[in-house]
Amino acid sequence: MKIKRDDKKYREAWHSYKRIPITEAKFIVDLLNQEFGIKAVFKFNNRARAFAKYGSNSITVGLNEPEWVIVHEFAHLLSFRRYGEAGKHHGVHFYNSLKDVATAYYGDMHKYPFICDYASLYCRYYKEFPGR
Ligand SMILES: [Zn+2]
Repeated sequence: MKIKRDDKKYREAWHSYKRIPITEAKFIVDLLNQEFGIKAVFKFNNRARAFAKYGSNSITVGLNEPEWVIVHEFAHLLSFRRYGEAGKHHGVHFYNSLKDVATAYYGDMHKYPFICDYASLYCRYYKEFPGR
């Protein structure tokens, strides 16, 4: 069964999360690199939204991203490192990596705002995160 994302709730949640300056975004990547030892390269592009690139093992972030976006993109690189091709996209390998990164960063993975994340994740794992 496909659960339709509640767009209003999604927008409110998105805007309620803390935005971080670029220096802090880099600091988060550095911290996670130390924790997981994958040496992700940090890049900045003020005209882009955040994305991860497997080939260059890099995370590019734009201005004033919510901090959880860094956690999300880092989980992509970790998932690729762990599972190769199977770790790409938003499947179960990615999700398991995301749980690990969220736990490392927040101390509690439930502090990661799953409701803000991509609809596929939210729908697939909705039952595990009631009310989020
Ligand atoms: Zn993603």
